[in-house]
Amino acid sequence: NLPFFFSFSVYNDFMPLYNVWIEHAALDLNQTFTYRSQYTLQRGMRVTVPFNNKELVAIVSEKADVPDSEKIKDVIGIIDETPLLNEELFELAAHLSDTYVSSMVSCFKTMLPPALRPSSRRAAIVYEDWFVREESTQPLTKKGQERWDQLKDQLPMKASEFRRQAKTHARSFLDKGYIRIEKRVKQPEIPVTERQDQRFVLTAEQENAITQIEQSDSQVFLLHGVTGSGKTEVFLQLAQKALDQGKQVLFLVPEIGLTPMMISRVRSRFRQNIAIYHSQLSAAEKYSQYEKVRNNEVQIVVGTRSACFMPFTDLGLILMDEEHDTSYKQDMMPKYHTRDVVLFRSRYHHCKAVLASATPSLESYARAYRQVFELVELKERIAKTLPQIHMIDLRTEPVIQGFSRRLLDAIRQRLESKEQVILLLNRRGYLPVVKCQNCGEVITCPDCGIALSYHRSNDSLMCHLCGNTYHFDHVCPQCGSRHFMDHGMGTEKLEQKIQDLFPDARIVRMDADSTRKKNAHAAILEKFENEGDILIGTQMVAKGLDFPNVTLVGILQADAGLIRSDYRANETAYEMLEQASGRAGRSSKKGEVMIQTFDQEHYVMQAVLHHNYKEFFQNEMQYRHLGNYPPYIYMATAVFSHDDLDKATRIAQKARNMLQEHGCRVLGPIEISMRMKKKRVRLLVKDKNESHLETVMWHLVHNLEKSNVKMEINMHPLMLED
Ligand code: ADP
Ligand code: ZN
Ligand code: ZN
Repeated sequence: NLPFFFSFSVYNDFMPLYNVWIEHAALDLNQTFTYRSQYTLQRGMRVTVPFNNKELVAIVSEKADVPDSEKIKDVIGIIDETPLLNEELFELAAHLSDTYVSSMVSCFKTMLPPALRPSSRRAAIVYEDWFVREESTQPLTKKGQERWDQLKDQLPMKASEFRRQAKTHARSFLDKGYIRIEKRVKQPEIPVTERQDQRFVLTAEQENAITQIEQSDSQVFLLHGVTGSGKTEVFLQLAQKALDQGKQVLFLVPEIGLTPMMISRVRSRFRQNIAIYHSQLSAAEKYSQYEKVRNNEVQIVVGTRSACFMPFTDLGLILMDEEHDTSYKQDMMPKYHTRDVVLFRSRYHHCKAVLASATPSLESYARAYRQVFELVELKERIAKTLPQIHMIDLRTEPVIQGFSRRLLDAIRQRLESKEQVILLLNRRGYLPVVKCQNCGEVITCPDCGIALSYHRSNDSLMCHLCGNTYHFDHVCPQCGSRHFMDHGMGTEKLEQKIQDLFPDARIVRMDADSTRKKNAHAAILEKFENEGDILIGTQMVAKGLDFPNVTLVGILQADAGLIRSDYRANETAYEMLEQASGRAGRSSKKGEVMIQTFDQEHYVMQAVLHHNYKEFFQNEMQYRHLGNYPPYIYMATAVFSHDDLDKATRIAQKARNMLQEHGCRVLGPIEISMRMKKKRVRLLVKDKNESHLETVMWHLVHNLEKSNVKMEINMHPLMLED
């Protein structure tokens, strides 16, 4: 029992007040609330607080500078003893919130692994039993003693593994106090093909690039190296130097599709010192990797987009591979770009950041042009020769079932000489459109309104926008006919056609369908490497693959990307074509690329033909200048959605007026495809000044009349067609 005066002293006037950010399921609150705490709290800790008669999780922001009053309630409990978000990450959240016009809480949620998000205290963290060594003098049997002497130095060990080795003795070790059980967070089992670490004598160009980066005073570098110029080796050596100085390294890669090859290369170099973080990990696996970084157990993190939020304390280098890749931009609020986070963290840690690509984004190259970033170039391939590009003009060349004779001949010849082929068709499924032969009806997604694709693998219809799958009974819903057009083709149909033409070829297909299962990517690539002749796939196959035996790349429907109306369509098309071309002829064997096109005069095609990035850059910059597009101006979109199109449009018009009053150029509202059955309209907002654009968009958030029309803001969107 506490003495009277002690319990009395808990009530005093000097208990500190704190502002906290509250996570609330229904409301997206973007303001702090004040609570009283009897303990000292630090910014970035999680606490529980009473809110509307519920107990909610909140993140501490700072001491509140207001007088105490009866209305202010007490903090209920403290979740973290030390701040979950350190000062840097807290500032980063505020930065993301400001610049991406999103609530603080949405930024916290994005930055933390699922198991640590404010709302998920009971997240599925999986524990497993480990045996830990104890001191004991209890006598063991002779056999038992022998076993103990063999095993004791290997502890702590996973219980299952220890039992396997100690057999029947495990029980008595436990009973006699030689070992005890400890629960530890289950470690992820990330299968990585073990590779022999290959170290190279650097080429003069690689050497120069490293020296330039090391000796320069610049902080951010754009490493522009043609495909196959050995950028990875430059990265690995820079990383090694930072690690040698006891610093941490962040190594970002765009997509899981690229990661298996890259991870195994990085891991074979740095062995145990590495954490791996990407979106296909389970919540428990992410948590364990996150904790490894927080506890300073690893020095280097390789990962995709969300790895940019790892809790580093002493970052010495940030590497961002394939910096042009669109997977670096998040598609939910806050719709941040990883590059911006990289720049923020490199400023904070005073460390260098190297962005690399064979096809840099226009934004980055323009910044290098203006010397905001320092340009570092690798102009030569390790293999010395770039692949030879052939434009196949579909208007004049003989075509068999969608394939030019030249391409088919080239494939046959590769099969005979036991070399490998990559074929790219950027459309998955079997048929892109299911259209009735009798009445012309096109089957569309009820949620999005766009045409559904037929997928033969699961005999169903799929919407490539929302991902929904629909049963297909092969009957026209309009007229009952059973006959559908056979126009167009996706990767499934391509696979079948190629197999028909080359019955003995061993074909492997890589697209979003064949890689849905965890670790499927790595398995497919391994299969191709070891026993495949032809790899067929969507733009996935254009990215990062390094197979020395690939000597032919064929690109079908190369123009498909150019006819999109999006302002970045040309850039995306150029990237894909140049990157895909870059997969051919990466070793001593000469490479060839065949591009089937109707439009070989287009400057995108010409730049690919000449392997000339600058030619593309200059043409594209002119086009952006004329159209008043980034990087000449800053852009944002606001999308309004509602069941009722008129209602969404009315609110959008109000928003447009408000934005125009503030001097922005606004295009729209225009109607775009539905999402989740909701009608949607979009405004496109342009402004010469980035911070003015942010201010105006915030003004919109705060002052647009409240309604049940939902508004979603995308700052610096990469894609307009939604
Ligand atoms: P990039 O990322 O620029 O496309 P990579 O880093 O994948 O190129 O390198 C291309 C190929 O050249 C890889 O197979 C790599 O192992 C090899 N390579 C890299 N540097 C050297 C070197 N200095 N000497 C020999 N081979 C190298
Ligand atoms: Zn019909
Ligand atoms: Zn859909």
